[in-house]
Amino acid sequence: MCKITMKKRLINALLGEEVDKMPVVSITQTGTEALMDICDAKWPEAHYDPKLMAKLAIAAHKEIGYEAVRVPYCLTILLEALGCQVSKGHKTRQPSITSHPYNSREPLPLKPISNDFLSKGRIPVILKTIKLIREEIGEDIPIIAGSEGPVTIASDLLEVTTYMKWFIKQKQAVVKYTNYGANAVIEYANALFEAGADVFALLDPVASPDLINPRDFNEIVLPIYQRMSKKLKGKVVVHICGDITGILSYLKETGFDAVSIEEKTDLEKAKEIFESKIRVVGNVATATTLFNGTPKQTYDESIIALNKGTDVLAPGCGLAPLSPLENCKAMVEARDDYFK
Ligand SMILES: [Zn+2]
Repeated sequence: MCKITMKKRLINALLGEEVDKMPVVSITQTGTEALMDICDAKWPEAHYDPKLMAKLAIAAHKEIGYEAVRVPYCLTILLEALGCQVSKGHKTRQPSITSHPYNSREPLPLKPISNDFLSKGRIPVILKTIKLIREEIGEDIPIIAGSEGPVTIASDLLEVTTYMKWFIKQKQAVVKYTNYGANAVIEYANALFEAGADVFALLDPVASPDLINPRDFNEIVLPIYQRMSKKLKGKVVVHICGDITGILSYLKETGFDAVSIEEKTDLEKAKEIFESKIRVVGNVATATTLFNGTPKQTYDESIIALNKGTDVLAPGCGLAPLSPLENCKAMVEARDDYFK
């Protein structure tokens, strides 16, 4: 197959169609201290200023060679817009949620999502950033934009232990809160597509079997994901942390384009379960390898992921801010050598 653009390569790979080589991107956050120093766009300012956010995101493409530009760097944008307080973090620490407005023993009524929802919090910052990135990089490089998923939203609106308890005693409230999160994601993600994003990364760490029983996932979360996939107007990759082997057969039925897995989930097993119905993205270990390992280890792990049939080579989770640049670059080198 002759050379294709990076955008076409990623879209084809997510559709399970022919590519000249597997794309190498990060579906999850790409801000590292090394990149911040190179391009002079640092956290926490780069979470708030569209120009700085765009600059740092583009640096991951230019300096590492990842074949997409990915924004933002945290899982707080929708939660902030829905009423949670956010701590800004610092240069090597992401923003985090510091208040849970609906935490209560009994379910509280949810405030309707307002008509001007897309103007709340930092949502306008992200939409502006995507437009700036597109102006800067042109049409051939894909933009990946992500946000926290509905389970993570519901758990933070409530506080995670309350949410977990309700899975036993307040199932209807769990469904209601999670659907509320889903509605916010749908509106936001479609605005991201409209602003110029090519792929939406739905990051739902709290949906992991580490926290939610696979049976509950099947009964409660899967129908919500399926409803979302019908409403989202673009390519969607869902990422759930930890060992998600127990829910792979459910994720296959979501209607999303791909599932991003960590190294704790075996890639070969995921491929086997998914057949050709949904694609796999991953799964170079972010903590043990990309952060703590060597370029050689990263290179070798990338080759293993390609050998096991990953559809898109990517870090298994968000890059740790102190990950060395050489390790990230080794992923790209491995992919290039693999398809030489
Ligand atoms: Zn993860």
